[in-house]
Amino acid sequence: MAEIATGGKSGKVVIQNIGLLLSGDIDRPILDADTIVVVDGLITAVGKYKDCDVEGAKTVIDCRKTTVAPGLIDSHVHPVFGDWTPRQSQLGWIDSSMNGGVTTMISAGEVHLPGRPKDIVGLKALAITAQRAYDNFRPSGVKVLAGAPVIEKGMVESDFKELAEAGVGLLGEVGLGTVKAGYEAKEMVAWARKYGIQSTIHTGGPSVPGSGYIDKDVVLEADADVIGHINGGHTSLPEAHVCELCEKSSRAIEIVHNGNEKTAIAAARAAIELKCPHRVILGTDGPAGSGVQPLGILRMVSFITAFAQIPAEQVFCFATGNTARIRNLNCGLIEVGRDADFVFMDRAQHSPAAGLLESVALGDLPGVGMVMIDGIVRAGRSRNTPPATEVPVVL
Ligand SMILES: [Zn+2]
Repeated sequence: MAEIATGGKSGKVVIQNIGLLLSGDIDRPILDADTIVVVDGLITAVGKYKDCDVEGAKTVIDCRKTTVAPGLIDSHVHPVFGDWTPRQSQLGWIDSSMNGGVTTMISAGEVHLPGRPKDIVGLKALAITAQRAYDNFRPSGVKVLAGAPVIEKGMVESDFKELAEAGVGLLGEVGLGTVKAGYEAKEMVAWARKYGIQSTIHTGGPSVPGSGYIDKDVVLEADADVIGHINGGHTSLPEAHVCELCEKSSRAIEIVHNGNEKTAIAAARAAIELKCPHRVILGTDGPAGSGVQPLGILRMVSFITAFAQIPAEQVFCFATGNTARIRNLNCGLIEVGRDADFVFMDRAQHSPAAGLLESVALGDLPGVGMVMIDGIVRAGRSRNTPPATEVPVVL
């Protein structure tokens, strides 16, 4: 299934008979529309069928009243090369995640490369290599934004300028290298920001032997763009400190699958109570010691909906439009001009719920019936989710 990024264009695609359209926009999570028109990978119309120009389509998809949402974004992954992870000696983990509805992944550092270079020229070379490699090669069509260097002591401002000029747009988790003090992290995060590089900080206890501990005061002082795995990866800060981070920082609140489930709920509830749900984004933090979770983002959506008691249509925004806005991506929202990256879902067979949102609120996983990236169908009925009750068909 792997293919090169420069593959063919989708041409005109009409997606019709949508039963429920989730927008990804937390201020307006459900759209009153049943049709999406796509031309060459971009959305050109969203509306009622009778109002859309559907003539001359190369591909027509009948959704059979199922749900369409923006493709899910995993805000926190640790890729290495291609669709291989040495962490758990596994091939095909990205394709497997695409079968879980994920169409974009963001690297929090290529930290699992055996023998990962930690000298400054070496870490820069690895970041540039990873950025280039995933720009040239998209496993199963998934957009992997990689090339996220782990900062080390001794880096100077010109290193960040050089990385930015070479195309690097992300820092790996601050705190996984030798930079663990707040004042040092703060200086480097500011240099990164000056050159347009977005930063994420590791939060909580060490993930695996060799990783580090970052407390709330370091997170606040460093002021990275994303409070990475605020619920720990896996060991969490005390719940009071997690809530304090939500309150005192204005940065993104990233909740991950491979973290502490109890503080995940506390962080989600804190964001709602502080009236800042637009700050919440979701990741898996896989591959990791906990493994790879092909359904990790869907599992987070169901888990947070059911246990934090937040409406499912809003929680889907945590995994789509919120992340797109915070990370300046052109996907994640159903609106004209955005990337035609979609996940088609229905309630799983035998879920006791009447519809998709109700099934998620009960804690069930949705069934994925189709995944589209750049207007091209990448998977039909998912090989990983419970079977969807109804699936879309290509006419
Ligand atoms: Zn981490």
